[in-house]
Amino acid sequence: MSGDEKSFLADLDPAEHELVVREQVVFANLRQLRFPMLRYRRWDSLGSVELARSNPTKVMVAMVVQVDSAGSLPTASGYMYSFLQKGPGIRIVGIEPTPISSLPHDLPWDLDSLSAIRAGSLTLAYDSTVSNSDELAQRLSRAAAFVRGKWGQRPMPDTLFVFMSRSEETIKRWFNAGTPASGRSFILAGVDPLARPQSTWTSSFVEFWYPTGSTPDYPNGPDPNRVELVARHEFTHALTVKVRGQRAPAWALEGFANWVMWGDEQTGRQFVTGWTRQAAGQGQDVGQLPDDKKMAGGGGLNYALSQSVFQMVADRWGAGQATDFYVRTISGSTLDEATKTTFNLSGDDFSGQWRAYVRTLR
Ligand SMILES: [Zn+2]
Repeated sequence: MSGDEKSFLADLDPAEHELVVREQVVFANLRQLRFPMLRYRRWDSLGSVELARSNPTKVMVAMVVQVDSAGSLPTASGYMYSFLQKGPGIRIVGIEPTPISSLPHDLPWDLDSLSAIRAGSLTLAYDSTVSNSDELAQRLSRAAAFVRGKWGQRPMPDTLFVFMSRSEETIKRWFNAGTPASGRSFILAGVDPLARPQSTWTSSFVEFWYPTGSTPDYPNGPDPNRVELVARHEFTHALTVKVRGQRAPAWALEGFANWVMWGDEQTGRQFVTGWTRQAAGQGQDVGQLPDDKKMAGGGGLNYALSQSVFQMVADRWGAGQATDFYVRTISGSTLDEATKTTFNLSGDDFSGQWRAYVRTLR
């Protein structure tokens, strides 16, 4: 990927015009993204392949990419390559993305022509709908610095790769996301030297939708302040992956990201109080932490209740304890273990204190 487009395209069948054009776009995108390492390798097996005479022969290939700097595992994405004997040589006649386990597919650089700019360790890649990339990159890097400051010396990825579009349709396609969201982070599993997925998270890709008009998250239309706020939330997910276990409870992930996002702003407290007051007034149960299923459904109340846990911890024990408690809850401890280690309280006693705290907010 050292800038040699010719060798990147060399094995493609020139008769497959669409494929050649698509791979030219992929090359131009990847060159700008400048991942610390990127290579392709056989994925399905290491055995030799016998080419059929007339039909294309399919081979699974992994694109192994180092997203974070050295010291972290790379991640990988899968492709089905079709090879055909053409005259004296073998040509690639097809390349189709194919999922490898849970690793990401429908990668933005395979789908659309991107431009990229760098702001420190952050790379912002955007499509042709984004016209104020300098301003947005500045906001994003400020948000990243904010989150890194809160996280302190705890382990985190060095780099952030961010993808941005103003098009709802594009955001739905990128990373196979399906529904548009103002921000989303895609955590990446590390792979071993054979590109087999491991059970550790290595880094993330972050996607932002900076809309052209008004959306529920942007009621007054495009707003760089709002981008910065959403970025703090998403970067909290992205920068804390290295301590995250395989089954981190969603209330802890979202509650902490929201708590970090607001910083010391009064608006953050108002968000919690507003939602709990409204829900209590309607006779809804505000004494239970939402489970993963509830969190997946979204909703302000679920996020407010989750956020209130970290708000209470920070008020009573300090911001550092809120972060320590988060690390324990997402890295595999049960609630009981996490509260005993952090506050010397049983899970039940802690939950009781939290319920009483939520009652004071109404
Ligand atoms: Zn989130």
